[in-house]
Amino acid sequence: MTLEGNANLYALLSSGFPADRSQIAIETPERNYSWTDIDDISARLAALLQALELPAGARVAVQVEKSPEALMLYLATLRAGLVYLPLNTAYRAAEVEYFLTDAEPSLVVCDSRNQDWISALAKKTGTPHVYTLDADGSGSLPVAAASQEATFETVQNSPDDLAAILYTSGTTGRSKGAMLSHRNLSSNAEVLKAYWGWQSDDVLLHMLPIFHVHGLFVASHGALLAGAKMIWLPRLNVEQALRYLPRSTIMMGVPTYYVRLLADPRFTREVCANMRLFISGSAPLLAETFNAFRERSGHTILERYGMSETVMLTSNPYHPADGERIGGTVGKPLPGVQVRVVDDQLSPVNSGEIGAVQVRGPNVFAGYWRMPEKTREEFTEDGWFRTGDVGQWGGGSVPAEYLTIVGRSKDLIITGGYNVYPKEIELVIDAMPGVDESAVIGVPHPDFGEAVVAVVVPRKGETLDAEAMLASLKQDLANFKVPKRIHIAEQLARNTMGKVQKNVLREQYKDI
Ligand code: AMP
Repeated sequence: MTLEGNANLYALLSSGFPADRSQIAIETPERNYSWTDIDDISARLAALLQALELPAGARVAVQVEKSPEALMLYLATLRAGLVYLPLNTAYRAAEVEYFLTDAEPSLVVCDSRNQDWISALAKKTGTPHVYTLDADGSGSLPVAAASQEATFETVQNSPDDLAAILYTSGTTGRSKGAMLSHRNLSSNAEVLKAYWGWQSDDVLLHMLPIFHVHGLFVASHGALLAGAKMIWLPRLNVEQALRYLPRSTIMMGVPTYYVRLLADPRFTREVCANMRLFISGSAPLLAETFNAFRERSGHTILERYGMSETVMLTSNPYHPADGERIGGTVGKPLPGVQVRVVDDQLSPVNSGEIGAVQVRGPNVFAGYWRMPEKTREEFTEDGWFRTGDVGQWGGGSVPAEYLTIVGRSKDLIITGGYNVYPKEIELVIDAMPGVDESAVIGVPHPDFGEAVVAVVVPRKGETLDAEAMLASLKQDLANFKVPKRIHIAEQLARNTMGKVQKNVLREQYKDI
């Protein structure tokens, strides 16, 4: 049940649930969950959380495998007015200890396989409650919730109250907790619903993890708010995707999902006949993938851009009236979101010129958890958030309203005093025959400060000649941009969201 005027995100999401709550809301290969199930299970869990009498704003840390029950725990945390803190399932003891120490949650929910070491850490860090929730929906949490009432009045929240803390992946320095309010998440959910044309008869193929902004917020909120069904799979499994795509209308994925679908010859137009939208984000989608996908499936992938601190910022158009989808770009600012590209003096740069991407809007987070200094550094005096990304409006044949992300500013290479943007070189290398993909990094160099180095993955069955490639690059690029060395590798280090981990590559290839 929702309250009139309640800014609690659950009140908004549940306003989209269909009138007939017996319809299927979540389908898994094992079982179906109705909208009544979502309401009831999240109510019992919320009642359990409330019965623990946790202080206002208490954090609920969750490190569990993906399951419908895990999503319901997220919804229950919202309903109880508490703060959800999802943790990547890959995190090991030292990492989890940091999060428990930093966030001081009142409760931690973990997989029963990890119960021993997480309980020990909880004791050490003073986390009072530990429950378990397993991939099959069993565990001490659902057992304890079963005796609670299936009705719960969603707690009244103000727009600025915290709904979630998402820790950034922390590739440089300490991982930071981005504090997201009910307003941040609600405003973005409403904007995306309209912009991507969500309807109640949509069926979302949900294969993303739910400890990250993409799967937890963008995908799940979209379906819940539209009252649309989700087909809920633990991860991308091409076999399963091929089975469920013919019954789906929307899929969201990181670029590697699209690469893997294309690698299977059974992925055809027929498989996609019922689909209306494929969305990609979290990492750059290669132009080659964008083009190959259009050719094979007849669909143009919609690429969008966002981050943990801001949820979604820009999107390629869905409706043709808003423009065409342009590969390699991340589209236009979403309604209500302001984006600027500026130089070091914070003056906007001209279209086609590269600068720092800064943003403002109701979606932009409140700051980093218990890091007021860091928060101050990351916002300009006039309230723009420094995304840490480098980008440009337009450029070449791209219209000026479209943004292209060139990379993270920390990945910018400064060699002998010259700025080198890795993406410019990666695009040239990727277009060379026999190249599958590449990553260009800066590594320490005694003369130049940093030296440009490329790590290149050949296509299956091809061999690459690094010397010949360097000779060819010398024809196409200014000398300071030409890599000092090309390393041929079988693959690039990536995290679970498909992002190339340049910090790992810099370490791996630091000896030039
Ligand atoms: P995260 O907070 O883990 O979601 O990471 C956010 C970062 O991912 C952004 O700041 C960008 O650097 C990158 N990112 C997200 N979407 C895209 C995209 N479509 N193209 C390029 N980079 C992206």
